[in-house]
Amino acid sequence: MSTTIAAAAPVRPQLRWGVAGYAVLVVAAIAVAIMAPKTGYVLNISLQATTYAVAVLGLTVVLGLCGQINLAQAAFFGLGAYAVGIGQTSWGLNFWVCLVLGMGLAALFGAVLGASTLRLGGHYLAMVTISFQQILTLVLINWIPVTRGPDGVPSIPRPAMFTDGSSYLALCIAVLAFAGYLVWRLRDTRLGRAMRAVRDNELAAGVAGIDVYRTKVTAFAISSILGGLGGGLFAGGFAYVSPDQFSFAESIVFLTMTLLGGVSSPIGAAIGTGLLILIPEWLRFLKSVPGLYLAIYGAAVVLIVLFMPDGIWGFVRGHLDRFKRAAPIITSTAALQLAGGGAGTETVLEVRRLSKHFGGLKAVDEVDFVVRRGGVHALIGPNGSGKTTTLNVLSGLYRATGGKIFLDGRDVTGLPPHARTVAGLGRTFQNIRLWKSMTALENVTVGAERPGSSVSDADAVLARARAALAFVGLEARADEVVAGFSYGHQRAVEIARALAGDPALLLLDEPGAGLNSSEKVELRDLLRRISARGLTIMIIDHDMTLVTEVAQHITVLNFGRRIADGTAADVLAHPDVVAAYLGAPDAAA
Ligand code: ADP
Ligand code: MG
Repeated sequence: MSTTIAAAAPVRPQLRWGVAGYAVLVVAAIAVAIMAPKTGYVLNISLQATTYAVAVLGLTVVLGLCGQINLAQAAFFGLGAYAVGIGQTSWGLNFWVCLVLGMGLAALFGAVLGASTLRLGGHYLAMVTISFQQILTLVLINWIPVTRGPDGVPSIPRPAMFTDGSSYLALCIAVLAFAGYLVWRLRDTRLGRAMRAVRDNELAAGVAGIDVYRTKVTAFAISSILGGLGGGLFAGGFAYVSPDQFSFAESIVFLTMTLLGGVSSPIGAAIGTGLLILIPEWLRFLKSVPGLYLAIYGAAVVLIVLFMPDGIWGFVRGHLDRFKRAAPIITSTAALQLAGGGAGTETVLEVRRLSKHFGGLKAVDEVDFVVRRGGVHALIGPNGSGKTTTLNVLSGLYRATGGKIFLDGRDVTGLPPHARTVAGLGRTFQNIRLWKSMTALENVTVGAERPGSSVSDADAVLARARAALAFVGLEARADEVVAGFSYGHQRAVEIARALAGDPALLLLDEPGAGLNSSEKVELRDLLRRISARGLTIMIIDHDMTLVTEVAQHITVLNFGRRIADGTAADVLAHPDVVAAYLGAPDAAA
């Protein structure tokens, strides 16, 4: 029970100022909402903007953070709105109960929709959400006994204490502010990082131990809940709901609001929503000329998106960042601990008759080998001999056609990638797969968050991530976005990410590829330091100098088959290996 680190954890001062500033802003907005005299027109615009913004925040989560499209946000908005409408007027339920019911209903539909399609990928999700949107509209129009059909639901009451327009608007602002705060903070939580990792590179997310599918479904459900919440507030604000308010066209409006303001930030959500509600009002004087208004409105939106691909807030923040002072470099005090599994057995990995066929091509053909704990085991072979495929089958990206894989004595053959990582596998990719929009520290933190690793509380995870970055010599660049890193540094971050998860076995696919000679020397030293800490490495590389310098054991593949296996010296002298690498002796002669 030594949780003193967590208890003493200081809140970052910038963050504290940010929260204080935000609170002041919100209180001011609420005061203005309550006290400022306003016409019914201004009140309506404000109510629409605040309730819409809550739903747009949902898209900030699912699209902005997690990269998944949702073309049915108006449907979830409608579910919330109808729950508040019908619940109160037909069933006599309390406003708050209806609001929660609406959110629950939206969450349920969101989760079911997400769970049934998120395995399938992008355009299926788009199609299914559009269908759901259309079905809901049809149900609202035709299920007359319950929804009252095209006429809609009138006379929807507001909760006691909030019956007049000003106080109801204040309520909506408070809810929006709170939801915005949660979404803002979500970004830097474990779940938020997982979502961003899934967005940036799904394959790498799975291999880093993130349950990709569950993360997506969670993002989708959160988005739906916020849609339902916004809709519920909308119904109370306007006292009337009808099916046309929640059509597919409205879903597109929500999406445009999200993209316009800046997809990855709640501030962007607020800006986009405000603008898209205000622009038509500003252009109202053009309404006498048919078509002109729509053309200008469309052109304005297209121009903004064209010149600010990251949305308005993304554009502004890009410029603000130039004035930001560099954060102080925090040096980690702890050295990276590598347990190297610790099952204590001599064998880390055992592969039995492993096969992977692509149609008629036997990329891996009944391969056997054993990786012993400690040291470096190299997997070599000519191009196309099945090395990467072997690694992909080991880490679960490909399902084996045949054979078995045992990690620390446990059969992992049927496990998905993240579960194998949890079981103790770490890896890097032949073509580097980092989360490019995230900082080096964020990348490595996700690795350190591996479920089942020795550290669990947030500060220990962060300390471990810093230690892993320090181990590869990149501590000073912890807070930089990795997209700007050189190839060699990106490699190092990728290795640090795998190390941070404290794996039992580290799989490296051609870590030396693309490195210059001094970077290769650094890589060799890094491999030796990792190995010296007792972590077992399995490395694929073409550079025979590197392989002979670090590996004690070598397995050789050719055309998917194992042609040699043994100590480095024995294997390199093997006639089949010499032939595979240097061509057959008769051909050479
Ligand atoms: P290596 O890493 O040893 O250079 P690979 O494992 O990448 O070789 O490839 C082995 C063989 O499998 C090659 O012939 C390659 O074209 C084929 N292959 C690899 N991945 C796929 C895939 N996803 N679909 C079809 N064929 C593949
Ligand atoms: Mg390869």
